[in-house]
Amino acid sequence: PESSCNKRIKALDVSVVNRIAAGEIIIAPANALKEMLENSIDAGATSIDILTKDGGLKLMQITDNGSGINRDDMAILCKRFTTSKLSTFEDLSSIATYGFRGEALASISHISHLTVTTKTKDSACAWKASYSNGELLADTKRGNSSLSRNSGGEIVSQPKATAGKNGTQIIVEDLFFNVPSRLRVFKSSSEEYSKILDVVSRYAIHTKNVAFSCKKYGDSHASLTIPYNYSVVDRIRVVYGSSVASELLPLSSKANEQLGLLKISGFITNPNYNGKRNIMPVLFINNRSVSCDPLRKAVNAVYSAYLPKGGHSFVYIALEIVPKNVDVNVHPTKREVRFLYEDEIIEIICESLQTVLAGADSSRKFQTQT
Ligand code: ADP
Ligand code: MG
Repeated sequence: PESSCNKRIKALDVSVVNRIAAGEIIIAPANALKEMLENSIDAGATSIDILTKDGGLKLMQITDNGSGINRDDMAILCKRFTTSKLSTFEDLSSIATYGFRGEALASISHISHLTVTTKTKDSACAWKASYSNGELLADTKRGNSSLSRNSGGEIVSQPKATAGKNGTQIIVEDLFFNVPSRLRVFKSSSEEYSKILDVVSRYAIHTKNVAFSCKKYGDSHASLTIPYNYSVVDRIRVVYGSSVASELLPLSSKANEQLGLLKISGFITNPNYNGKRNIMPVLFINNRSVSCDPLRKAVNAVYSAYLPKGGHSFVYIALEIVPKNVDVNVHPTKREVRFLYEDEIIEIICESLQTVLAGADSSRKFQTQT
């Protein structure tokens, strides 16, 4: 009967599978932007400019002055699992760069119109290519003259020579155009833009010696501008204002080899600061912006002794942990992180927080007494 025919198992089209997989990594424009920011930072950029339209859904353009991409790598740039950062399984546990599975650009190419223009310093010109479903697209505007054939006689698309500066510009247009179920969930482009701005702000605070700008198409001013030579405190002032920046105390702690904890650094607000706004901790582990719910709660518990009920602190904490102890694969979007000796390391962070806050509190009391 017909009904049993309908229940036959069929393989999904490979492009559908790739699109679904991409939609799991990239759930909002800000996820895609974070991947591209990390790529630019990995490439040694000292200047990163972002332009968006319609909350990043219509356009995200990210321009850096980093190393650029070799012309001969452009053909495989957007294939899955192509990366310049990792070649063996062992590498996975010791990588220092952010990217690690060579999936970001591939994913983005499955759910948007992606164009890459790039120039290495050794190249006489820049090269431009558009991608779709992991493949370099043929330049149809120029007809067959821009196509060449490989040894197997197949037509191969080539990047096109163009003018450009050293570095890379990535243009992502019409994100999720072929994932209508995803598009439907976006309520407003201003909400998506604020998520983008939040990601950029976090990296701008943490990534010293790099200039950042983030702008909405059509605006006369950028929403965020950070010159490369700004200090961390200056960066925090630009993002969160003077009320936060003028009440910061440095945070630091000794390394603990046994726990694989190499370094704690950062800035936290003193007990004078009592914010009305709840700002999620700016937390970086091995230069990757992450969230760690147990740490956030522990930090709040420490502050609760110093702040009136409902008051908020601001913390920026950067941890360096032996890479093999950090599990970055817990979540497809790589945000919530797990690491070995989590309880012990959180304890150490809270102790140094406590020391800094208690010191500030007693000096404050001392000042008011005299
Ligand atoms: P991953 O970062 O995990 O390697 P991606 O898909 O994010 O994977 O990027 C693939 C490769 O493309 C990178 O390994 C890098 O060589 C190159 N790449 C991507 N973006 C840039 C950029 N802005 N500047 C230089 N190289 C880049
Ligand atoms: Mg990457």
